[in-house]
Amino acid sequence: MKLITAIGIGVLVFFATNQTDGQTSSLKESKTPKLVVGIVVDQMRYDYLSKYYAKFSENGFKKLMNQGFNCKNANYNYSPTYTGPGHASIYTGTTPAYHGIIGNDWYVRETGKTTYVTDDATEKTVGSSAGGAGKMSPRNLLSSTIGDELKLYSNLKSKVVAVSLKDRASILPGGHLSDGSYWFDSGSGNFITSTFYKKELPTWVTIFNERKLAHTYLSKPWNTLLPIDQYTESAADDNPYEGLYGKEKKPVFPHDLPSIYNQKDFGIIRSTPFGNSIIKDIAIAALQGENLGKGPYTDLLAVSFSATDYVGHKMGPQSVEVEDTYIRLDRDIAELLTLLEKNYGKENILVFLTADHAAAYVPAELTDNKMNAGYFNGLAFSDSVKGYLNKSYGDTSVVSFMVNNQIYLNRKRIQQKNLDIKSITANLANYVLQFNGVANVYTAEQLNGAVLKNKSAELIQNGFYRKRSGDLAILLEPAWLEELSTTGTTHGSTYTYDTHIPLLWYGAQIKPGYTSAAIDITDIAPTIAALLNIMAPNASIGKPIVSITK
Ligand SMILES: [Zn+2]
Repeated sequence: MKLITAIGIGVLVFFATNQTDGQTSSLKESKTPKLVVGIVVDQMRYDYLSKYYAKFSENGFKKLMNQGFNCKNANYNYSPTYTGPGHASIYTGTTPAYHGIIGNDWYVRETGKTTYVTDDATEKTVGSSAGGAGKMSPRNLLSSTIGDELKLYSNLKSKVVAVSLKDRASILPGGHLSDGSYWFDSGSGNFITSTFYKKELPTWVTIFNERKLAHTYLSKPWNTLLPIDQYTESAADDNPYEGLYGKEKKPVFPHDLPSIYNQKDFGIIRSTPFGNSIIKDIAIAALQGENLGKGPYTDLLAVSFSATDYVGHKMGPQSVEVEDTYIRLDRDIAELLTLLEKNYGKENILVFLTADHAAAYVPAELTDNKMNAGYFNGLAFSDSVKGYLNKSYGDTSVVSFMVNNQIYLNRKRIQQKNLDIKSITANLANYVLQFNGVANVYTAEQLNGAVLKNKSAELIQNGFYRKRSGDLAILLEPAWLEELSTTGTTHGSTYTYDTHIPLLWYGAQIKPGYTSAAIDITDIAPTIAALLNIMAPNASIGKPIVSITK
């Protein structure tokens, strides 16, 4: 009798807890992941998922696609589609119009100089004695990131760590409150950080650097992972649209890395798949070194694989080199996912994979195949504009600078000379429109406030932040690149080949499936916020993707 009473009370207490406090805590415990892992693949086109599918392993991209949720129609909703703005937009849930990262570089009217996106002369390098590779911070990023919000929500108890080959691909995802953002220093082969974050490297990073993995990876030639005749998705290994490694005569395998690598500069690793492998290695070291996902608060690890971008720029999307880089990245991602599931369990992790932009086909290859495409010669264009200014106004300094397909007028000079800025802008726009490859020109006045209804104009507008952007923005025709080299490719435009990127979700709360609905890159951060029951970043304009949850 006593026993039954005791059990009865127990049951009552259990239900009581569930109806009040217990309900909220059980919701949290069962549903909120312990660890969010963001994976950004630099320059990954959406179609690489299907193009290389047959060559992927079971536990990498395929696992994310088949056991996770595939957003098949995710696009950038602004231009320029570059690495700095891309990483900023993924993690802030907003566009350059709000977060202010309008390019990898831009012109600063007050100083008359260009600035690099994460340059910060007030900080110092931590982790390497030479060079200014660590004089950086996220101070130019105007809005908060999802990691910042996670830290504010947890009273700074959540941990946020970011790793990448590129400084900007680590600093911007890590946000302002990052516990440590680390990037690769080509000169030393070390991962470094800046005094913005800490005064010295944590022990786990020092130990990681002492392993000298960059040296190990560069000590053998780069051969294809699979027999080369299986790379049927790509063009012939030897073709005229690819750049050369070191002093190679032809752009073909094997690439003799030991002869290119001179033991003083480790930079060549960036343009090989092993640049991704070393990021996988440091991501795994960070999980252990920072004890991520093991505490009571949700942690965030931001991983950016940039080797894909360096190889893509050099060789173009049809190259065996790009294909092999993705096949090897698939194995690296599989290793990371397997470790995450083993150490945390699928129910405790939330993984997303996307890209900071995609990339164009090599224009020379398109024109050789009778398609419209071309190269816009920025230097020749700049000279012509100067000639025009001289003729029309007797003064070339009416224009200060051109960068990111934008023209910055010299407002002071125009005022001094008592010229009318509106008429200069209009005349210059008409002049620029005559150039081969130019599709349209938008003025700052148009971009600042008007509702622009065509897609390209709207994307340029979303990428425009008045205090940092120029006075005229030039839209090139599709498949026209601002490039001089006819090998390799680039990105930055408003067109599909640059905006359409993969977006895959996997882990706690995520159901297997897919959607072909249009999704903006700015939807990622608010989706994470919804899954974590926290606020979206402060300038977020995106909407949570509701179809991905169970
Ligand atoms: Zn790039």
